[in-house]
Amino acid sequence: MTDPIVVVNGRVVTADDEFDADLRIVDGVITEMSPRGGLSGGGDVIDADGCYLLPGGIDTHTHFENPTLMFTTASIDDFHSGTVAAAHGGTTTIIDFVKTEPDSTITECFERRREIAASKCVVDFALHPVVPIAAAETGALAELADLAQRHGAMTWKFFMAYPGTLMVDDRTLIEGMRLAKQVGAMPILHAENGHIVHDATTRLIEAGLTAEHHHHDAHPHVAEAEAVYRAISIGEYVDSPVFIVHVSSARAAEEIARAKRQGKAVYGETCPQYLLSALEDYEGIGFPAAAYVCSPPIRERANQEALWSALAAGHLDTIATDHAPFSMCEEACFPPQKSNGKGYFPHIPNGVPGVEERLMVMWESGVTTGRLTRQQFVDLTATRPAKLFGLHPQKGSLHVGADADVVVWDPRAPRTLSSSDLLSRAGYTIYEGTKVSASPRFVLSRGEVLVSPALSSSVAGRGRYLHRQRAGVLA
Ligand SMILES: [Zn+2]
Repeated sequence: MTDPIVVVNGRVVTADDEFDADLRIVDGVITEMSPRGGLSGGGDVIDADGCYLLPGGIDTHTHFENPTLMFTTASIDDFHSGTVAAAHGGTTTIIDFVKTEPDSTITECFERRREIAASKCVVDFALHPVVPIAAAETGALAELADLAQRHGAMTWKFFMAYPGTLMVDDRTLIEGMRLAKQVGAMPILHAENGHIVHDATTRLIEAGLTAEHHHHDAHPHVAEAEAVYRAISIGEYVDSPVFIVHVSSARAAEEIARAKRQGKAVYGETCPQYLLSALEDYEGIGFPAAAYVCSPPIRERANQEALWSALAAGHLDTIATDHAPFSMCEEACFPPQKSNGKGYFPHIPNGVPGVEERLMVMWESGVTTGRLTRQQFVDLTATRPAKLFGLHPQKGSLHVGADADVVVWDPRAPRTLSSSDLLSRAGYTIYEGTKVSASPRFVLSRGEVLVSPALSSSVAGRGRYLHRQRAGVLA
């Protein structure tokens, strides 16, 4: 139990409105919202004068202590450092992934990882099981249905890329997505044609084009567009909603927009790195380009505008980070980090950090520029993620009865982003030197102040696991 809190003088922003209101928080829940000046007494007071009150950010796509490169390495933030970074950026819920490790079942891995996360997370969390390769043949689909029922694991990640390790074939897509529909789960897809990426990679290697930035060339737009179209088609065939993660290509965004126009339950996420960084930032710069290597890749600058338009039009639904941090340290590290692939892009672990930066860089590039309204910002970073991923109405908006995950967002609190201040262990940010005008002044998770001008709390294990009833419904 935390002490009651009254948040006064703030301006509440929701996905479709904003208004001046004071909040009362009792036992971690918003119990009262009242016109400004309407609440007094009965607890600690947080003065939000001049600030917006935003629902805590929800990042539905993080990779903390994530095994990769055939389980030879792992991302460098664990569930503790990663969620501390999240909280400091105003994100109070994360959803991470569970892969099947060698000689284990997805159930064993899920239960083990849930325990590890529960012991370390500072903010609330959920987990997406990754559909095991050949799950339709091995019986692993039945395990997923069981995880949905027993653990509320209502979002299943299908990889259409990485043949041999993660890529599922169309049979598993068909049977897995049909089963997801039956149990109220939502398929979420890494949509790239893995065979095209493999072929393109092989041809680049044969041509001696292995410099870090050639990672981009191994992931052509058509590989993403084809997989998005195939995922949408299979979703149509089995009558399942479809959620495409990390949409990077304008062509892929257009496939989603077309499906939406046809009335299909098709949804898409993009990430700040695809909106704010471009191939032109890292082409031909040698090893520093490894900092930008992620999949799908950060594409040409000319590709960005279509993603912004898709966000503004509602054709893309959420902004998550795909936070997958690997150090740029150049000594040989164990486990290996970015320098593992120095001069040879196929050996660079994929991923960029961003869990702390997300709200600040998206507010700056989206809201202060007028590309997105404050309502759209809240919708894309909290409300629609909560709805689609089965966390609403407990999370994702400020209303009576919701968890008191509240960000007191100061629109006049400028800072210059630098890895020396950010808390990810990645030790770098692709937004180094970026000036932002707004940042969180207070961050509350279930009524507990995690971040304030005077305080920075990082109690491992206070975050709670979120058992979800269903996903894939925007209502
Ligand atoms: Zn990812």
